[in-house]
Amino acid sequence: MRPEKRPALDRQGDFAEIYQPWSHQALAEQAERCSQCGIPFCQSGCPLSNNIPDWLRLAAEGREEEAYRLSAATNPMPEICGRICPQDRLCEGSCVIDKGFGSVTIGAVEKYLTDKAFENGWVDNIQAGKSQGKSVGIIGAGPAGLAAAEQLCRYGYFVHIYDRHDRAGGMLVYGIPEFKLEKQIVARRISRLEKAGIKFHLNFLVGQDASLDQLRAKHDVILIATGTYKARALNIDGSHLDGIVPALDYLTISNKVVLGDKVDAYDDGTFNAKDRDVVVIGGGDTAMDCVRTAIRQGAASVHCLYRRDMDNMPGSRAEVQNALEEGVRFMWLSAPVGFEGDNKVTGTQAIKMELGPADQDGRRRPQEVDGSLFTIKSDLVITALGFEAEDIPSQFDAPDLATTAWGTIECGNNGVGDRATNIEGVFAAGDISRGPSLVVEALKEGRDAARQMHRYLTHTDDASLDPVDEPGADYFSPIKAGVGR
Ligand code: FAD
Ligand code: SF4
Ligand code: SF4
Repeated sequence: MRPEKRPALDRQGDFAEIYQPWSHQALAEQAERCSQCGIPFCQSGCPLSNNIPDWLRLAAEGREEEAYRLSAATNPMPEICGRICPQDRLCEGSCVIDKGFGSVTIGAVEKYLTDKAFENGWVDNIQAGKSQGKSVGIIGAGPAGLAAAEQLCRYGYFVHIYDRHDRAGGMLVYGIPEFKLEKQIVARRISRLEKAGIKFHLNFLVGQDASLDQLRAKHDVILIATGTYKARALNIDGSHLDGIVPALDYLTISNKVVLGDKVDAYDDGTFNAKDRDVVVIGGGDTAMDCVRTAIRQGAASVHCLYRRDMDNMPGSRAEVQNALEEGVRFMWLSAPVGFEGDNKVTGTQAIKMELGPADQDGRRRPQEVDGSLFTIKSDLVITALGFEAEDIPSQFDAPDLATTAWGTIECGNNGVGDRATNIEGVFAAGDISRGPSLVVEALKEGRDAARQMHRYLTHTDDASLDPVDEPGADYFSPIKAGVGR
């Protein structure tokens, strides 16, 4: 059983998380359902290779503190992943008892254990390692940068994080809405990093306040973890009209307002859906976050326009279901062709689509249906068509920094490790190197980068990193020696 959701009518009126707290009983019931597979596919489905069956077993035995410690050994933010990983595509989607009965609700267990660990004081302070006498500069305080910072601090480095925003957290704070991830959950992680001595330089725009070379001169090694922020443009008639806004600007402003900031562009209505007819264009998770934010801001109507059908959309099914319950209307198989209005948008023109034969990726290609044009009344249009990497070499005044054909930073070609760029002592992790992805992937790359940076600086081999790298390792051995696996 998954945690119960709050009734949709309640959810529409606030930005609080939608799932009710779970009971100890529900946790035990779920944990006991695990078959303790000899080859745990759930673990292969988790990008962090979490020791899922072991912590499920500890939880089933009532050993919750040990279960928490084991889950924290491989994941620097288990309570965050438990809330926002698309588990149906990762750990739970790989669980062998998925068929018929539903998989073990791994994410909910992970969230429960770590929330309880914070409540009960089981979450230890980060123990900085014996000083290496060297410093590391991390550009970007999103999950990749934060995960790397924690590990590097444990290895004994002075860690400095630079971020252009006024708060650390990256997309955890300014992309993902509060109803999926309450911001005090992120703040508590940041404060733990600050207490460990990690120095945050906020409102610091690399490229303007310092170039990459200036930071290289200041630190022994650099990590670029700047994410992907360039919105894909929609070039159709009327795209220039007022009232058409990019998704991330809309979500960032909403998150600031929910955090209590005063934002003029919200107060003057530019980014406020109240009493407006809203159309969101796109079918990914960002589009789902926009439609559900617009509902909570009090929109008069919210339509989501997507050119394929529900089975072929990239967004999570659970999020579509949540949006439907909250009153969003989905226009499947509909593509925008233009906007109506003089200066301000008043309507979105769209055309019906049908799915044709599959393309080389195996996805059925949408084709227009002749004579099926229609218009939806709209005075706020939010475009959520995905993101690309910004031009980091130009921004950072580092023309030699190698990038891929997609503009992401190229890594892994100089024998130092798969997080190393072509510039000596400069590494990269997260969306800026892999393209727009997931928080859990950014955490993994941040940890990998930290290990490789440490190896680069000290010429240590992997095995000698384990004692600081696996704080929960003590809990691992007795379980491995146990029966039932
Ligand atoms: P980011 O989180 O983007 O952090 C990069 C940081 O670098 C930012 O703080 C930025 O301010 C800073 N920065 C950039 N340029 C500079 C510069 N020049 N100088 C200084 N600082 C700079 N993933 C999930 O797993 N689950 C979800 O539910 C989910 N929902 C999402 C919803 C939205 C709306 C979006 C946009 C993404 C979502 N994702 C989700 C994806 C996830 O947020 C990203 O994959 C993840 O945050 C990437 O982490 P990162 O550390 O690489 O980059
Ligand atoms: Fe599943 Fe994500 Fe947790 Fe891994 S980190 S076990 S994928 S919820
Ligand atoms: Fe348990 Fe499912 Fe993982 Fe098997 S695949 S160990 S049943 S959670």
